Amino acid sequence: MAKIRMNTPLVEIDGDEMTRVIWKMIKDHLLTPYIDLKTEYYDLGLPVRDQTDDKITVEAAEACKKYGVGVKCATITPNQQRVDEYKLKKMYKSPNGTIRAILDGTVFRAPITLDCLKPSVRSWKKPITIARHAFGDVYKATEYRVPGPGKALLSFYDEKGGKVFEETVNDFKCPGVLMATFNKDDSIESFARACCKYAVATKQDLWFSAKDTIAKKYDGEFRDIFQRIVDTEFKEEFKKAGITYFYTLIDDAVARVIRSEGGFIWACKNYDGDVMSDMVATAFGSLAMMTSVLVSPDGKFEYEAAHGTVTKHYYKYRDGETTSTNCMATLFAWTGALNKRGELDGIPELQDFSAKLEKASLDCISDGFMTKDLASLAEMEKVTVLDTEGFILKIKEYLDKAL
Ligand code: NAP
Ligand code: MG
Repeated sequence: MAKIRMNTPLVEIDGDEMTRVIWKMIKDHLLTPYIDLKTEYYDLGLPVRDQTDDKITVEAAEACKKYGVGVKCATITPNQQRVDEYKLKKMYKSPNGTIRAILDGTVFRAPITLDCLKPSVRSWKKPITIARHAFGDVYKATEYRVPGPGKALLSFYDEKGGKVFEETVNDFKCPGVLMATFNKDDSIESFARACCKYAVATKQDLWFSAKDTIAKKYDGEFRDIFQRIVDTEFKEEFKKAGITYFYTLIDDAVARVIRSEGGFIWACKNYDGDVMSDMVATAFGSLAMMTSVLVSPDGKFEYEAAHGTVTKHYYKYRDGETTSTNCMATLFAWTGALNKRGELDGIPELQDFSAKLEKASLDCISDGFMTKDLASLAEMEKVTVLDTEGFILKIKEYLDKAL
């Protein structure tokens, strides 16, 4: 079989530890034998980030902007222990945070689902994708511990220093707590646009929830901005894709999500998304089966696994011990990116290959061949637990049969 040709390069962002090991195995066994892989390679492994004073991270993000599609391996976000371990010049910021800020993106997280891995919620038949607004609210709040009686005011001064607004928050008679949060229209608009684009791209209904009955101005503004973006910019595209937009209160949304079959995108405010994505991930089974894609408002895509570098497994691997690390989320980051590249460049063979590779990996698990983390979750008679590379090689057998 002739190798599939690519036109535009894919931005390949390598990373750390066990996921770096898996990264190479996926490329060697499942990609390069079949695709004339054209990538622009950025090594975000911690040593190179240190050598380049983290410039490599910025360059990788810029490349995603330029080419439109990237695939990223999990990377270490250094803490003090990592600074010592890798003898770093400084404690670099989270690469994901840097990339997100440059692409101004929204993160969508969706589980890879299989019949043999039953979600804890029985009615769920299709994946639920959470879109989390990753800016503002309690994550950028100003807090104060009120020490005793006194008055708290909320005030706003315009650019010229004139007082425009002031209202009493509370007349404290005893100690208490105080917090001010904010958000910005342009950030909410970007978020709404990214959600709409993703809904159209994946042909799934879009839900948005907030608490506008209580926070009439704050959450009311979120609700209005979403509705306006949908009505003025996406009406036709939604109609063409056969999808709908739906706003409801966050408490109503929670109840509906649990009763639903899944198969939609749930856009959440920052805090709601933080909490709900952990709930949804756990209810669907495993962190190793959770995919993540960063989508910018102007339609750039960066695919990755939702999990980290699986440090514990890496230390075992380094010591020559056998590991059983699940490559699924990383593999789906690759297939997601290759499929998108194929779609944008008009290479149906690349899209077809991505679909076949995904199906091969799912069939492999459905037939009982899987890594250790899934073995305890799978509802089936006979399960064969494979090691990290053994699982990838098994997927290759299924892929070769399908091609
Ligand atoms: P982690 O790498 O997600 O792993 C936590 C645990 O989850 C593992 O010890 C393992 O459990 C299980 N697990 C996760 N992925 C798995 C897989 N593919 N196959 C099998 N089991 C899997 O989180 P962490 O250990 O807290 O973080 C490690 C490093 O990753 C940190 O340096 C952190 O900065 C970084 N990180 C990066 C990203 C990113 O780049 N997107 C995200 C999160 C964390 P068992 O040990 O029980 O088998
Ligand atoms: Mg969380």
